[in-house]
Amino acid sequence: MKTHFKFCILIGLMMTVHSGPISRQNEDNDAFVKNYLKKFYNLTEQTGPSSNGRFSQMSLKIADMQKFFGLTVTGTMDSETLKVMQKPRCGVPDVAQYSTFGEGLKWKTSDLTYRIENYTPDMTQAEVDDSIQRALQVWAHVTPLKFTRIYSGTADIMISFGGGSHGDQYPFDGPHGTLAHAFAPSAGIGGDAHFDEDEQFSFRSTNGYILFLVAAHEFGHSLGLSHSSDPGALMYPMYSYRDPNSFVLPRDDVNGIQSLYGSNTHVIPDKPDPIPPVTPDACDRNLVLDAVATLRGERIFFKNSLFWRVSTNNKAEQHLIQSFWPDVPENIDAAYENTAQDQLFLFKDQKVWALYGYDIVQGYPKSLSSMGLPSTVKQISAALYDPDTEKTLFFTDNYYYSYDESRKVMDKGYPKLVKKGFPGINGKITAAFQYRGYTYLFSGTHMFEFSSSSKKVLRTLNNNYFLPC
Ligand SMILES: [Zn+2]
Ligand SMILES: [Zn+2]
Repeated sequence: MKTHFKFCILIGLMMTVHSGPISRQNEDNDAFVKNYLKKFYNLTEQTGPSSNGRFSQMSLKIADMQKFFGLTVTGTMDSETLKVMQKPRCGVPDVAQYSTFGEGLKWKTSDLTYRIENYTPDMTQAEVDDSIQRALQVWAHVTPLKFTRIYSGTADIMISFGGGSHGDQYPFDGPHGTLAHAFAPSAGIGGDAHFDEDEQFSFRSTNGYILFLVAAHEFGHSLGLSHSSDPGALMYPMYSYRDPNSFVLPRDDVNGIQSLYGSNTHVIPDKPDPIPPVTPDACDRNLVLDAVATLRGERIFFKNSLFWRVSTNNKAEQHLIQSFWPDVPENIDAAYENTAQDQLFLFKDQKVWALYGYDIVQGYPKSLSSMGLPSTVKQISAALYDPDTEKTLFFTDNYYYSYDESRKVMDKGYPKLVKKGFPGINGKITAAFQYRGYTYLFSGTHMFEFSSSSKKVLRTLNNNYFLPC
């Protein structure tokens, strides 16, 4: 009997912003491993041997996980595997890591058919049709593949909505958890995509899972891609909100699908292709961070559409900004945390967003001038908050302003030259924060560690000094 490769996508928004990192030490390891495999590898409650009678489902799932992260595949738990499970989004040696089901599991023709068998009541039929069509175009755009819709008979990709048991061996699990699954290319059920009807799907609203995003991911499986360990990739196993209107297939996914089918040879001369976004690499020697800040005891480092979140014990995770804050822009200019107010402020162009946990504080975004900055300031390049003095410094390249958070006014006598207030630091300030009593000013690919008490630069470090590399 032929084995069908099936993958699912999982919800990724359950991470806590409020509480600190979860200590795994106190957790029972077995329960943790089981839970991890349930969450990331679709381990079900089944006990005893699996259908092939030789290996337990648990052992097969451990082997899957070890393979995904490039570990020695033993199918049994060891300390190395546990370590990777404890920081599943960290320590991946290469950020661009798509994978496929293998050369054998791809379509032999570039002309494929699809059929929408039924509809979800969550959206209008026109919205479902449009979401499915655009999700397929994501892949058609970068390959020679073409998709034709049929309305009867058997299509290569049969698309349906169903809850619980829905006609295959993989029943859905009710709201959240598994959102959908799809089968790798082959005849019969191969290529088909099933969506869990117990989810709330949506067209554009963040009140629900955006069907376009879920479907685009599933069709990656339908075409022969398995999961990627790149947190910026569409084929990353967890659902992440991103703006469906401006979605461009990330570089890792483009590389993956083109390794199977090659590139799109149909040149459209008038329309330059959008550049596929590349997930920032913490080990890139030329990395220039957009912004840095503390956040409830952790440190966050922004670059393009993603940020690294580094806990107090230096565990790092990389996330899409919009998976935490869907309405905040990408490529931000500056960030700071006001620890007294428990609010994070993000800046882009002339706007500022105040965030409390996952929420935007009412009344935001506001203009830069609402912070008391002169209207001549069109953009800031960095910001930092000093909890001792309750002052926030706003940097505009070589100059900085000082804002009194307690009195809500700008201090007099500013802007000042950075080299006046921070002797030894030259160049434009591109990111800044205060951490453990030291001031860190980033300038391009370098970072200065500055002591406010001795008014001296203590060390010049690489931009990625705090990042997992
Ligand atoms: Zn998937
Ligand atoms: Zn199914």
